[in-house]
Amino acid sequence: MTISQQAVADWIAAFARAVAADRDHLTALDAAIGDADHGVNMDRGLRAVAEKLAAEPAPDIGALLSRVGTALVSSVGGASGPLYGTLFLQMGAAARGQRELDLAAWTGALERGVEAVARLGKSRPGEKTMLDALAPAVQALRSAAGATVAVAMGAAERAAHAGMLSTIPLVARKGRASYLGERSAGHQDPGATSAWLMLRAAAEAWKAS
Ligand code: ADP
Ligand code: MG
Repeated sequence: MTISQQAVADWIAAFARAVAADRDHLTALDAAIGDADHGVNMDRGLRAVAEKLAAEPAPDIGALLSRVGTALVSSVGGASGPLYGTLFLQMGAAARGQRELDLAAWTGALERGVEAVARLGKSRPGEKTMLDALAPAVQALRSAAGATVAVAMGAAERAAHAGMLSTIPLVARKGRASYLGERSAGHQDPGATSAWLMLRAAAEAWKAS
């Protein structure tokens, strides 16, 4: 089955609800190894996204995802604004003009977005960032080629969750947490946590796809 434009909109709304519900948890994770603003940043950004999408309905999935990216870049200060903004802008570019995505198109779009995050952040998995949740999710989608969207996203969500937990023992190499050096070990990365929430929201929104 495929992912409709409505399904993409449902995913973004579910992501916003998940971040609002876990805002204080994300901020507490950032308090331990950063500057205690990740939950506030993401919640502000996703509220701006909801306003933008309500004001300007998008003609297709590419435009919708690009609008999400633009709203995040313009409303979120801090590292996560440009990084999540780039993720969505590149997914939007990959889905330009599309009214629905099959699993291969969705996987390609997410992969393009994640590669752009790595380029912008000059980062790769293993450095205690959102990429530790995002990259395994892309791998899981690739491995699930041929499955239904629902089954593939279930696998991607589990891979992202494991990736998120894998950040706990890591020493941060990128972002503010890297200023702590070895003292960053023993804490879960906030950005990997919000990335897992994003993928969990997709898995839940697309359960029947
Ligand atoms: P800031 O660090 O500016 O306060 P946030 O607290 O909103 O921004 O986001 C921090 C998260 O951003 C980190 O937990 C990490 O996952 C992610 N991050 C920071 N720098 C990078 C980078 N260079 N590459 C990938 N992700 C990064
Ligand atoms: Mg922060």
